[in-house]
Amino acid sequence: MTEHLYDSNSYLTEFSATVVRSTSHENQPAVILDQTAFYPTSGGQPNDTGTLNRIPVLDVIEQDGEILHLLESFLEKDHAVTGHIDWDRRFDHMQQHTGQHILSQSFIQTTKAETIGFHLGTQICTIDLDRSGLLDDAILKVEYIANRIVMENRTVHVHQVRPEEVSRFNLRKAPVAEEYIRIVEIEGFDANGCCGTHVKSTGEVGVIKILRQEKYKGGTRVTFICGFRALQDYQKKQQLTSETAAILNNSEDGIIENLERWKTDRKKDQKRLKLLSSQLVQYESSQLLAEAETVNANKLIFQSFSERDPSELQMLARLLIQQENVIVLLGCTDEKAHLVLGCHSSIHLNMNEFLQQVILLIDGRGGGTKQFAHGNGPLTNKLDQALAKARELMQQALS
Ligand SMILES: [Zn+2]
Repeated sequence: MTEHLYDSNSYLTEFSATVVRSTSHENQPAVILDQTAFYPTSGGQPNDTGTLNRIPVLDVIEQDGEILHLLESFLEKDHAVTGHIDWDRRFDHMQQHTGQHILSQSFIQTTKAETIGFHLGTQICTIDLDRSGLLDDAILKVEYIANRIVMENRTVHVHQVRPEEVSRFNLRKAPVAEEYIRIVEIEGFDANGCCGTHVKSTGEVGVIKILRQEKYKGGTRVTFICGFRALQDYQKKQQLTSETAAILNNSEDGIIENLERWKTDRKKDQKRLKLLSSQLVQYESSQLLAEAETVNANKLIFQSFSERDPSELQMLARLLIQQENVIVLLGCTDEKAHLVLGCHSSIHLNMNEFLQQVILLIDGRGGGTKQFAHGNGPLTNKLDQALAKARELMQQALS
């Protein structure tokens, strides 16, 4: 049985050991050691990474009571090895995990919500609580208590006790009965059965920040981060705030007020733009009608526009085909090429059929009815060719 060096010292980053078995796991070389400081994925905490004789340790898993170190390359049995733990990753896990214990106890004391699940992810951590409908004020209070415990820099003790000794601790959750039970105690605040790696005093956890709460399986999922993760998050948000204030030409305190005003102004502008756009289309339609060419007693409006809103183009086409004998073949470009084909209901042409025949030229898709069809595609430089082809097809159909 491998000795778990991390149980008694989570700060150990270098150790010597012997390979007692060399094996493989899912086609990956793997070894079992007589002792290890590598923590395997368990109890919501991910595995350590590092090296064994400079060979990268890719994963550490617990299987049938054994700890398997999955390696990048093979290591023989009886080999003496020196192991190095990636300290940044380990310490980050220690900050998050001790932070979780502090938060879980803070939730009990503030809201009576018990923690029923914990996950330590690469970016964020979550705890699942057995209660729902927690008020924002309660969350703020929990966060305050948790950070007060951090700032009081309380000692974190790790005890290995026999089951009969467990009763002297006021445990958050009943532990699984084993020969020895590992208890992580935050002095005067919390005690819980746990196999994870922890900091030795709460100050090392750094800031504990709750990011959000959401409903989850009848309870609540709380997302949080601790320590350097919280610092990085604060740096990112500070930058975001400064940049937003700079864009708005405002102080950080005025951001919300400024954005609210901007939102109201934007609504007004959109309303006005819509009105102007419909007026423009009205004016344009009479202009286009006046200039329309005559093809077999029909009025043909054939036009392409660059950098134009396609919805405006459709509006224009719909307005024009209300007039008797009018056929419209319109195109425009924005980041795509757009085609709108339409005719008055008295004209027996099938615009959708024309569209299907020409839309391939712009590598696009579209659809519609006999009277009105539209579509778009990425080949903006082929728009005029597609329109010309539509005109050719329409003339053939009319002759
Ligand atoms: Zn734990």
